[in-house]
Amino acid sequence: MTTLTGECFCGAVKYQITGPLRDARSCHCSRCRKAFSAQASAYALVDPADFSWLCGADALTTYASQQDFGFQFCRQCGSTLCGIYKNHVHGITLGCLNEDPHIEIGRHIFVGSKASWEVMPEGVTQYQAQGPD
Ligand SMILES: [Zn+2]
Ligand SMILES: [Zn+2]
Repeated sequence: MTTLTGECFCGAVKYQITGPLRDARSCHCSRCRKAFSAQASAYALVDPADFSWLCGADALTTYASQQDFGFQFCRQCGSTLCGIYKNHVHGITLGCLNEDPHIEIGRHIFVGSKASWEVMPEGVTQYQAQGPD
């Protein structure tokens, strides 16, 4: 198992992951578009025991978007780095990874509410709403 690292746009915040990423998914709903400032989320789950901040944890700001769930982002550059659930890291935004994690997004969800300007790639697994668990 190789160690993965990730960092924000300005480099103030860095983390490492020493275990596997799981359940990489992309959600195209209007909420995720705004939370990720993109056409969709790109997110994978991580075991909190495998995750640690290397530097810049004091530059993180937390936004709680729902009860118990939120995102942490760099207050200097605004990159969203991870999702947190009950104050533990829940998953990471794939865009902030430095290395190839050797995974692919396994499912695209809420494609039924995607932005009109987004063209979905061919051949990806799509669900109009939440996919199966
Ligand atoms: Zn930053
Ligand atoms: Zn969503």
